[in-house]
Amino acid sequence: MPKPRIATTSLAGCFGCHMSLLDIDDRILKLIELVDFDKSPIDDIKEFTGRCRIGLIEGGCANEENVRVLQEFRKHCDILVSVGDCATMGGIPALRNTIPLKECLEEAYLNGPSVHNSRRLIPNDPEIPLLLDKVYPCHEVVKIDYHLPGCPPPADAIWEVLVALLNDKPIELPYELIKYD
Ligand code: SF4
Repeated sequence: MPKPRIATTSLAGCFGCHMSLLDIDDRILKLIELVDFDKSPIDDIKEFTGRCRIGLIEGGCANEENVRVLQEFRKHCDILVSVGDCATMGGIPALRNTIPLKECLEEAYLNGPSVHNSRRLIPNDPEIPLLLDKVYPCHEVVKIDYHLPGCPPPADAIWEVLVALLNDKPIELPYELIKYD
């Protein structure tokens, strides 16, 4: 019987949540026995090769490319999990949400104290994904099935979630894995 497939992606995130996933240490060998990785930076597969049981999403949506990738994950995955504070509520990138996008761009490319931009141009190459007006948590863009908080969530929490989902069991995380003080 074919193994269930898992896909992962980093949208507007820092890859810290992926690092936390790799922090499951030698359990990664057990995970590889249980699943095949599909589209993911972990195996560098760029495109979906089939239907996935679980999609792990790191980061929220800061640009049009993030939205496209997230919609693609929703289409190809039975279960989507927002992993980490950036995916569940925007996180650090969402600090810009209180400032109009135009002001953010002007500060970054024209007026910032360390900016040297003699042509006074804000990058606008068509290859660069357009920024959204603000950073959106994933559940405001597509339906998300589970939210796993933390920056990043502990490796043990990610492991427990994966094992529960792969075994069709309810997710029951002990208090120690979801307290952040
Ligand atoms: S939640 Fe924290 S670790 Fe995860 S992508 Fe965001 S900033 Fe990085």
